[in-house]
Amino acid sequence: MTQPNPQLLANIRIVLARTSHPGNIGAAARAMKTMGLSQLVLVDPAVFPNSQADAMASGAADVLANARVCATLAEALADTHLALGVSARRRDIVAEVLMPGEAAQRLLAEAQAAPVALVFGNETSGLSNEELSLCQGLVTIAANPEYSSLNLAAAVQVLCYELRRVWLAQDSWPQPELDAASGEELEKFYLHLETALAELEFLNPGSPGKLLQKLRRLFSRTRLAKEEVNILRGILTAAQEAKAGGTRARNS
Ligand code: SAH
Repeated sequence: MTQPNPQLLANIRIVLARTSHPGNIGAAARAMKTMGLSQLVLVDPAVFPNSQADAMASGAADVLANARVCATLAEALADTHLALGVSARRRDIVAEVLMPGEAAQRLLAEAQAAPVALVFGNETSGLSNEELSLCQGLVTIAANPEYSSLNLAAAVQVLCYELRRVWLAQDSWPQPELDAASGEELEKFYLHLETALAELEFLNPGSPGKLLQKLRRLFSRTRLAKEEVNILRGILTAAQEAKAGGTRARNS
């Protein structure tokens, strides 16, 4: 058997959103390193760097030292081609709910071509709907339904173990079928969609309701390629221009 490709694990990012306890950040770094992962990204952590984080990281001080700190989740996911939220509770805003093993398969296959991410939520409140809306799918650890909330670093350990298990077991990966749009391209598209729908008076910016959330879910279900995003944005621009032209004609 050929040696598994270390670049695949290097392309998988563990993102911790709004972590409250620095000890959990350290424990997550240790969980990662024991499984061969190294890319830790912290979004708006309450306390970091911190001695408790260092103590809990133990021999994984290098993972902490190399951790990237971002102000927003969108920034952390800007260059990723696949981001999966990790959450105990099912939400109706994501397209798909995966088991950790399936998520590992998907992430490793995608990681051949581009960075991918697993996003973990805050210890008390989990992932917000807004954070989940930046993910293309959701991973749930099948836990005791009477008490399903794992400690944050324990959840990171489960996912990293699954990644390593799947990585070790398989020596060739299907090539990703499409040139997926990046997180940044998707967010620009959603912003364009919102602006255009407001200009077309399909969306009332004062009370958008759940329309935008539902449209995000629709597009996440199909996984958009770069080229498809460009086509959709071209259609939006054409509609905006037609609307502006019509408005100008009426007003002249
Ligand atoms: N009270 C929070 C739990 C937060 S636990 C809630 O109900 O969402 C901190 C993080 O660990 C979660 O945001 C999630 O990323 C992860 N986590 C804990 N238990 C999990 C489970 N059973 N499945 C998937 N992720 C889990």
